[in-house]
Amino acid sequence: MTAPTRGSAGRVSFDIDGDSLREDIERTAVFGSVDTEHGRGRTALPADAANGRARDYLVSRLEAVGLDVRIDAVGNIAGRWTPDGVDPDAPPVAAGSHLDSVPNGGIFDGPLGVYAAVEAVRSIRESDLTPARPLEVVCFTGEEGTRFADGVLGSTVAAGKRGVDETLALTDGDVTLEDALDRVGYRGSGRLDASAWDAWVELHIEQNTRLGDAGVPLGIVTDITGTARCHVSIEGQADHSGTTEMTARHDALAAASELVLEVERRAADIATTGSGTAVGTVGELDVEPNVVNVVPGAASLRLDLRSVDREEIRLQLDAVERALDAVETHRGVTTSFDCTYDVPPTPLSERCRRVATEAARACDIETLSLHSGAGHDTMQVADVTDAALVFVASENGHSHSPRERADWADCTAATEVLAGTLARLATTGDTETDDTERN
Ligand SMILES: [Zn+2]
Repeated sequence: MTAPTRGSAGRVSFDIDGDSLREDIERTAVFGSVDTEHGRGRTALPADAANGRARDYLVSRLEAVGLDVRIDAVGNIAGRWTPDGVDPDAPPVAAGSHLDSVPNGGIFDGPLGVYAAVEAVRSIRESDLTPARPLEVVCFTGEEGTRFADGVLGSTVAAGKRGVDETLALTDGDVTLEDALDRVGYRGSGRLDASAWDAWVELHIEQNTRLGDAGVPLGIVTDITGTARCHVSIEGQADHSGTTEMTARHDALAAASELVLEVERRAADIATTGSGTAVGTVGELDVEPNVVNVVPGAASLRLDLRSVDREEIRLQLDAVERALDAVETHRGVTTSFDCTYDVPPTPLSERCRRVATEAARACDIETLSLHSGAGHDTMQVADVTDAALVFVASENGHSHSPRERADWADCTAATEVLAGTLARLATTGDTETDDTERN
C-alpha cells in the first residue's frame, strides 16, 4: 500500500490529556452509579438503560474528537479517523474495550480501554505525524456475560464466530438482544469485521496484584488463559440420616466433596510446574434434597479449569475423570461429566507486543510480561488479526467491585504508551502479520 506517511512514530511524542481521560471515565461512572463505603462502582449491563447512556456519552466524545461513528447490527460502536490522503479501505489499526460492567462492578474495567483509545487517537491527530492507515476506536457490546451470552458477545460477532441473526435472537428472560438494543437505540447495521483490521490493542486494568507487587505500572500480556467449563452430575441415594448406617450409604455430597478437593489439589500440583498458570475451581454446587436429615441423593457441580497451556487443562480434565471413576467404585454412585465450554489459550501477537514494548521504552515506562487469567474481547480478536493486550496496575488487585482502582498517573502513562503503539503500528507501510499461532 502507498500512503503519505509523515514523521516517524518513534520520534513523535504525544500530548496526553490525563484530565480529559479521567473526566471521561468519571462521567461514564455516573451511569448506573453505585456508591459504597469502599468506593464508587457502577452497574451497566449490556444494553440496559445505564449502558445506553454510557454509549450516548461515548458517541458524543467520538464525534467531538472528529471520528466517523458507526454502529453495527449487534451494537458494537466504532469511530474512525482516516487521515488526509490515506486510502479509506486500508486495514485500520483499532483499539478499545467495552462499556458494560458486572453488577456493582468497578469504574475502570472497560471504560479505561475505550477512553484511553479515544485520547490516544485524539493526540495522534493533533501531533505532527500522519499515519499511513486509518485509526479506529471500538467499544464492543456485552463483554461481561451478565446478559444474553457467556461474555465477549460483540467481539465474537466481530471475529465472525457467531452470526448476527443468531446473536440478536439471544435472550435475557423474555427480552431478546435485538429488543434491548432497539430500546437504547443501538441496533445499527452491518457487522464490524475484526479480520479487516491490521492490528488491535486493548488497554485494561490488570485485576491482579502482579504489577503492583513488582512496582511496575504496565504489563504486556503474552497469552490469555484457555478455559474449560464442565458440568458434573453425581447420583447417589437419598436416605434417612438417622437410620441409614454409614456402611450402607451412597452419599452424593460426600462423593462431590472428594471431587472438589481433587480439582483443587490437581490444579495446585500442575501450577507448581510447567507454565505456572493452571487454576481449577468448583464454583457451583447444588445438592438434592438439601435437607438436614436426609443423606444427599444427588449433587450437581460446575467446574472452571484454566491454563495458558492446553495440555495443562487436559491434565486437569484427566484428574476429574479419574476422581469420578474412583467415587463410582468405592461409593456406589453414578456420575456423568460434560464440557460444553472449551476456549483454547490465546497467544498474543509478537509483532504487537514488540511494538508496545518499544513504545513504553520510548516513554521511559517500565513493563512486565505476564499472562491474563481472565478472558477479554482481545482473545476473540486475536483469532483473526494481530492483537495486543496491555494491563495497567490495579490497586490491591481488586476488580469487579467498587474497590477497583488504578492510579490516574498510571492511566495517563498507559495512554501515552497506547498512542505510541498505535502510531507505530499505523505508520509501518507493510501489512506483514506475524506467525503467532491462531486458534
Ligand atoms: Zn473488562
